[in-house]
Amino acid sequence: KSKEAGKNRYTMFDSSMEDELNRNISIIEVLRNAIDNNEIYVKYQPQYELKSNTIIGFEALMRIKSNRLGPLSPDEFIPVAEESGLIIELSHWLIKEACKFNKKLIDYGIPPKFVSVNISSVQINHPGFVESLSEILEETGLPPEYLVLEITESTLVSSITDATKLLNNLQKIGLKISLDDFGTGYSSLNYLTRMPINTLKIDKSFIDHICTSKKDAHIAELIISLAHNLQIKVVAEGVENEDQLALLREKKCDYVQGYVFAPPLHPEELEDLIKKE
Ligand code: C2E
Ligand code: MG
Ligand code: MG
Ligand code: MG
Repeated sequence: KSKEAGKNRYTMFDSSMEDELNRNISIIEVLRNAIDNNEIYVKYQPQYELKSNTIIGFEALMRIKSNRLGPLSPDEFIPVAEESGLIIELSHWLIKEACKFNKKLIDYGIPPKFVSVNISSVQINHPGFVESLSEILEETGLPPEYLVLEITESTLVSSITDATKLLNNLQKIGLKISLDDFGTGYSSLNYLTRMPINTLKIDKSFIDHICTSKKDAHIAELIISLAHNLQIKVVAEGVENEDQLALLREKKCDYVQGYVFAPPLHPEELEDLIKKE
């Protein structure tokens, strides 16, 4: 009897693994053809400056909506794109799209904004990464200082052989660097002083509890003052309510990105919002 149960368990485990494998193969298939099939697009989430209550920039977020599989969450498809290497091609498409869009906004004559894009460790270690960025900037005509690369702390610390050299090269081109998901990795604080970092984004997991946990509020305050001492600006990500906003104002946080202001928007929606300002 116990043998049979064991066998059943084994079969169940096996078939769920098979399901996952099949799902991943389907996702790879979708990702491989996403550009040709128009199943990839970009949403932009505005970042507000607290001092002026105006939009200073926006983050480009990749979206996939497949005819066959429906909309896919980035938390599901980004890891598959990274493991399969398809992230290189997809991200190249997204960065170009985002630069084109920002250039168009600048050409309207509105005060220039920063567009930020997420860079994964696979990309940053890919030969030709820096060149491909230069190429996109040249093709789209976007001045480099209006493109921000969001790199997570863990990518920076663990996966780049010579991170300081790479960031210096990116800075030479004129690009800005933002440290994403700050506080979730193995923070080795000394890189903050050694590397050319323009902004850091306090991770949503801290922001979630700043109003209920004295400890998290204290951590946020410490991160902000540490950053300011190093001439680094601070973005709070995932800010959802007015109480969090008030607390972040009080702690002199520079910028806020979150549902309290706006979710990720279609390009036309963001354009309208910016033009209304
Ligand atoms: P991230 O870079 O930390 O992006 C912020 C995520 O938080 C976005 O999720 C955004 O929609 C969400 N968010 C913003 N404000 C709020 C809020 O107030 N409440 C809540 N609950 N969520 C909020 P999204 O778009 O699902 O992206 C998830 C992650 O996928 C991103 O985290 C990023 O790591 C990755 N990702 C997205 N697009 C790209 C891309 O083009 N390339 C790469 N390599 N990664 C990407
Ligand atoms: Mg990001
Ligand atoms: Mg983030
Ligand atoms: Mg995050």
